[in-house]
Amino acid sequence: MMQQYLAMKAEHPDKLLFYRMGDFYELFFDDAVKAAKLLDITLTTRGQSAGQPIKMAGVPHHACEGYLAKLVKLGESVAIAEQVGDPALAKGPVERKVVKVVTPGTLTDAALLDDKRENRLLALVAHKGRLGLAWLSLASGDFALMDSDVDKLPSELERLRPAEVLVADDTALALLDQLTIPVRRLATWQFDTQAAARNLARHFAVHDLAGFGVTDGMVALGGAGALLEYVKTTQGGALPALAGLRVEHASQYIELDAATRRNLELTETIRGEAAPTLFSLLDQCATGMGSRLLQHWLHHPLREHRLILERQSAISALIDAGSYVDLHRTLDEVADIERIAGRIALKSARPRDLASLRDSLGRLPLLATQLPEGDFFQGLAAALVPDAQIRSLLAAAILPEPSVVLREGGVIADGYHVELDELRAIQTHGGEFLAQMEQRERERTGIATLRVEYNRVAGYFIEVTNSFVGQVPPEYRRRQTMKNAERYITPELKQFEDKALSAQERALALEKQLYEQLLDQLLPFLPALRLAAQATATVDVLACLAERAVIGRYVAPQFVDDTVIDIDAGRHPVVEAQIDDFIPNGLCFNLHRKLLLITGPNMGGKSTYMRQAALIVLLAHVGSLVPATRAVIGRLDRIFTRIGASDDLAGGRSTFMVEMTETANILNNATEHSLVLMDEVGRGTSTFDGLALAWAIARQLIEKNRAYTLFATHYFELTRLAQDYPPVVNVHLDAVEHKDKIVFLHAVQEGPASQSYGVAVAQLAGVPRDVIRQAKRKLVELEQSSISNGLQGDLFAAPLPAEPEPVEHPAVALLETLDVDALTPRQALEKLYELRSMTQVNRLSLAGKD
Ligand code: ADP
Repeated sequence: MMQQYLAMKAEHPDKLLFYRMGDFYELFFDDAVKAAKLLDITLTTRGQSAGQPIKMAGVPHHACEGYLAKLVKLGESVAIAEQVGDPALAKGPVERKVVKVVTPGTLTDAALLDDKRENRLLALVAHKGRLGLAWLSLASGDFALMDSDVDKLPSELERLRPAEVLVADDTALALLDQLTIPVRRLATWQFDTQAAARNLARHFAVHDLAGFGVTDGMVALGGAGALLEYVKTTQGGALPALAGLRVEHASQYIELDAATRRNLELTETIRGEAAPTLFSLLDQCATGMGSRLLQHWLHHPLREHRLILERQSAISALIDAGSYVDLHRTLDEVADIERIAGRIALKSARPRDLASLRDSLGRLPLLATQLPEGDFFQGLAAALVPDAQIRSLLAAAILPEPSVVLREGGVIADGYHVELDELRAIQTHGGEFLAQMEQRERERTGIATLRVEYNRVAGYFIEVTNSFVGQVPPEYRRRQTMKNAERYITPELKQFEDKALSAQERALALEKQLYEQLLDQLLPFLPALRLAAQATATVDVLACLAERAVIGRYVAPQFVDDTVIDIDAGRHPVVEAQIDDFIPNGLCFNLHRKLLLITGPNMGGKSTYMRQAALIVLLAHVGSLVPATRAVIGRLDRIFTRIGASDDLAGGRSTFMVEMTETANILNNATEHSLVLMDEVGRGTSTFDGLALAWAIARQLIEKNRAYTLFATHYFELTRLAQDYPPVVNVHLDAVEHKDKIVFLHAVQEGPASQSYGVAVAQLAGVPRDVIRQAKRKLVELEQSSISNGLQGDLFAAPLPAEPEPVEHPAVALLETLDVDALTPRQALEKLYELRSMTQVNRLSLAGKD
């Protein structure tokens, strides 16, 4: 057995091997030690190998899902070896095979998946500065390719949030070593582009991949090939039916860099928590499909106004018709069709999956009728009602409430298959037979308490309590002795038992077979099911956004082609939900107003104001309505943020380095259609070089990038930029001091702030009184000394050391008086000597000064 084990383990060295033994999956050697630690299970030893006791740990097979979930969450992969041979025929150990490999990126089991999140496997290819990405969500069958640039890797990882990454052995991308998700290195040849193109075409049964939008030389193709092979090995050699192949283009979406996705807290807070985020606020979707699509939309704001408006009008129509409430109610009873379809593709769908699919398909026609009029909704409605055959097939085949696992039977409906019905009849009629026999035997023996029964362990038996044992007829043979009774079997009962048990066994086998056939019969319907799932998810998200818009009093933004972002009374959707009196603030950008320099006290609301701008703009491009009373938005290509200081310790970069790396990215890539948020840039270094940098960065943004910029700063000196650069405008947030206390007004006003209130904020934060008193004293002292030094706290206002007035050289004065035409050659030569002596004297005198 150990030989068999070791041979299998050699093929899966980097995975934990679950080796099936009876009702347990056993782990051996190092796997056992690791699993014992990770799963908190007992480590034992048994037998010996090479003179050493064999370490061993096991999990019961019926509870293995929980353990798998835990391991996979920790980034481990597990190879599952089942017994495939017949124990009765085996000479040595029963034949075993790895039937499945569970890896974080290839999960499909409902129990192992988070139903609100897409679980993606991502393959990366880096080639000459290009980055190829291929990703697959096995649970839904969504498969996509995209070519990008290598420097977009952080942002793509943040966008796709893969559960597992595949790269070629020789890929040198430093970032990969810092990832917390598992990165698997595969042989480089597996990433061969041509082989991939051939295999993909074969898989989708097409002549070439052009129909999917795949172009020759797409770097991502190699990744797609490696990815499919990898998936195949995890699924025991069979590739599931995929939904198709999509090619994504960066230009479809508003680009969000990695820092921006984090800073805006779209789906995760900066601390990595699930709430409060924009997603947690908005997600009232009834289905997991809806929640996942909403997440996708939030991370993929659209660029094309036509597509945005399609969603926006749909949401408005749902609001006008008031139908979102009904839709939500109907959706509440729709199961995760997308994932069920995924499991059908893998032939791993469970009986309950099919029952909920059947019931959900029964709900969808109602959903379709609840949609408003219009082409867009009619398109969705058509997809929502797939071929009636699927439903009738499921209704005929599956019991109304099938049992959880197929192996226990009770799955296939009565009337679906004649032989199954017959076999079942033998068992049910068996109940009658037993009752009759019991009656008969009681009368025959005169033992009134005699019982004829069945249980799993003992099979069929006649039970007689001890006090009547003497009355038992001779043909009763003892089967089992209990404390108070004896159990018997008779030839008649034995005969019945054989028939019933074999009927049961045959029925189970038949059910299994019928079930597998059913899964095959469903395969041709997968594309229709997937479309229905997509349509359901879309309706769910639209209804959810409609409801949120009504509750939050959101308005539909207007899109224009001009250079403008004009928002009236905008609000931060997440902060607003958390406090009582949120103060709305407008925002106005146009050709003459492109960099807003925001000053004001700490805690004044600067960050909130900036993030609110980005969130409104982002929501608008998602197609959602926005928290404002009016919004007009021009063309936009990217959103950049440089907010908050966080050490990237894992990445080995200090706060300031992170800040400057992000800033460099912005300065190199922002265009006049980009929205840039800069919060307190330069703060991470000393006052002077921080200020100097902030000043230069702001200038660059206004002169070169000409992006829509919100620039919050505590360097008051920067407010002078507005005088020199007309598109720079000062705005500020105010606070008032009231009896030694500070009250923040949170209202954005034109002009620079007047004070910074640092000490007052410190007091508010509970800094001890003594420290506050000393700080106040020191502040007065500093202010006075800076006044007397002529600094007055305003660096740029302070006269720069004057350049020395150019003192005219006497030689120049002489030259100017010369009438050159009137000079004789001799006079000219004399003047030349004179001039030279003057310059020498001058140099000597300067040297003397030194
Ligand atoms: P700053 O960046 O200026 O230090 P923040 O934007 O972090 O300030 O805001 C500090 C706090 O003030 C927020 O946590 C929020 O509770 C409150 N706040 C910010 N903006 C508003 C607003 N417009 N209305 C009401 N409260 C606000």
